[in-house]
Amino acid sequence: MAKIQIENLRKQFGEFVAVRDSSFTVQDGEFLALLGPSGCGKTTTLRMIAGLELPSSGVIRLGGEDVTFNRASARDIAFVFQLFALYPHMNVRKNIGFPLLSQGVAKAEIKARVEETAKLLQIDHILDRSVSGLAGGDRQRVALGRAIVRRPMCFLMDEPLGTLDAEFRDTMVRELRELHLRIHATTVYVTHDQHEAMAMADKIAVMNHGIIEQFGTPQEVYNRPASMYVADFIGSPPMNFLRFTSGLQKGTRSVSVDGVQLTVPEIREDMAEGERALGIRPEHIRFSDASPLRGQVYGSEYLGTNQIVAVETRAGMLKARVPAERNFSIGEHVGIELTHDNLSLFDAKSGRAVASSLYTEARHG
Ligand code: ATP
Repeated sequence: MAKIQIENLRKQFGEFVAVRDSSFTVQDGEFLALLGPSGCGKTTTLRMIAGLELPSSGVIRLGGEDVTFNRASARDIAFVFQLFALYPHMNVRKNIGFPLLSQGVAKAEIKARVEETAKLLQIDHILDRSVSGLAGGDRQRVALGRAIVRRPMCFLMDEPLGTLDAEFRDTMVRELRELHLRIHATTVYVTHDQHEAMAMADKIAVMNHGIIEQFGTPQEVYNRPASMYVADFIGSPPMNFLRFTSGLQKGTRSVSVDGVQLTVPEIREDMAEGERALGIRPEHIRFSDASPLRGQVYGSEYLGTNQIVAVETRAGMLKARVPAERNFSIGEHVGIELTHDNLSLFDAKSGRAVASSLYTEARHG
């Protein structure tokens, strides 16, 4: 296995820039999810790493070697597509073993490696079955087997679970993670599904319009979003924003939102008067009669173990995840308490984070 280094990678289709000067490293054995909405450049990035698309500029290194202009067949990678075409006239064993057969590997070794791979994927009991009668999950496992059996330097996967129904998808997410923990293959996985990315990846690159907005662990992108875009894209419901206007001085710990003084993470730069947004996750909001920050209940959604209560404030709508027991009536006035250890502060114009309490703690801690 090997590390993947991407330096200033760019792809233009005519005037249109699909990938804009991306730089990141996937460490040896790491699982990276490229996450973002449709059209943000995930597949184009993956195809460039695979050698299926030539970059307009930038460098791609696999295992330290510059492969930017190498053909796909000259890169030691395995690509797993969403609709992986299995050979319908072959059984599972032959489908998995096919890449080794094409490489001229000896029959006895093919047999051993196919059986080892099938065991890893828990499909050793169906090795002699025809692939045409297999259910979606098993087909996907056979497709993975065909990729794994070659023992390539890295795996590239483009929405491989996209066609599976929700139940199989959850099973496959769990299985892919377990498989990764067993074989530690360097993997780049494209998805638009934040749950898949959060559940499987060691690192996530959150993409938007060809740009990587944030590259970090699932915990970092969730707790310390680098931008309002990331804060909004990750989390369900997403991060809430309370908007206010203020000039901020370095070292500031208090801001006025709707006339209420709130303690915020320390600002490290002076910032001129401008639109700001205070970000807070739904689970970090509590209702407290004594709190001066007030709002009116707009609606609630019962989820069994908890409920999401939407509250309208003068600084914006908030969604709080609170215990399911209490009943709220629409129009009810509530006091809102924000746990100030979990706040993020953004420049609302650029959308960039200017401070986060968790970031501050991590830096000082
Ligand atoms: P999706 O999940 O919908 O595939 P994505 O994030 O993977 O989204 P890409 O497929 O990488 O997005 O496409 C990024 C942008 O580049 C899109 O606007 C797409 O229309 C454009 N694009 C991709 N390939 C080409 C091409 N060959 N010619 C012109 N434009 C292209």
